[in-house]
Amino acid sequence: MILFVSDLHLCAERPAITGLFLRFLHERATRAEALYILGDLFEAWLGDDCVLPEHEDVLDALAATVTAGTPVYVMPGNRDFLLGDAFAQRSGCRLLGDAAVIDLYGTPTLLLHGDTLCTDDLPYQQMRKQLRDPRWITQFLGKAPEERLAFARELRAVSEEATGGKAAEVMDVNQEAVRDSLRAHKTQHMIHGHTHRPSHHTVDLDGKRAERWVLGDWYAAGSVLVCEAQGCRLERFGLD
Ligand code: MN
Repeated sequence: MILFVSDLHLCAERPAITGLFLRFLHERATRAEALYILGDLFEAWLGDDCVLPEHEDVLDALAATVTAGTPVYVMPGNRDFLLGDAFAQRSGCRLLGDAAVIDLYGTPTLLLHGDTLCTDDLPYQQMRKQLRDPRWITQFLGKAPEERLAFARELRAVSEEATGGKAAEVMDVNQEAVRDSLRAHKTQHMIHGHTHRPSHHTVDLDGKRAERWVLGDWYAAGSVLVCEAQGCRLERFGLD
């Protein structure tokens, strides 16, 4: 059994969700063959040298999961794209790049956070490009923790304002971008998050049937894609 989650957006404002994730790691991840976290594990990651106090327990629990024998893979999302080597060292997690192809019980499967598929949202893509610029990153990591925190808050406010004014379709994936990514990585199976629209889609890929799984967020409950040799299923579980 291999587990996939994304968009937990762990933060001090939702301690119950952090608690749910700690329990998920302890009770479910430790029994899995692997856990993949496909971005936005944290609501904000200000740099490996600036771990927020509310994230300490999570890092310890990830390390315990890895020590218990389950490899944990983490892909950066748009909120935690600054996760780096020191995070990997401390948590025991293995960092993935922006895209990865894994062998999922014999099926080559493309893993993405999902934001690169939302090509209709031009302002977002423009901002993404700026934030991933190595010069911008160096400059940001040179700032004091308080300054970084203030910037993250500002970015969140800007994003919330922009999101409110955008059409739902603009913020979803672009179907051609989905097909382009599948073609580029020579796969017919994809798993991603980011859009917070958990679902299973079939995609017509040049006359072949491709599949796209979308992971759910952890705002009000937990969400996980459980994959076994027979197939995958989305599960939602509560806070009780
Ligand atoms: Mn995201």
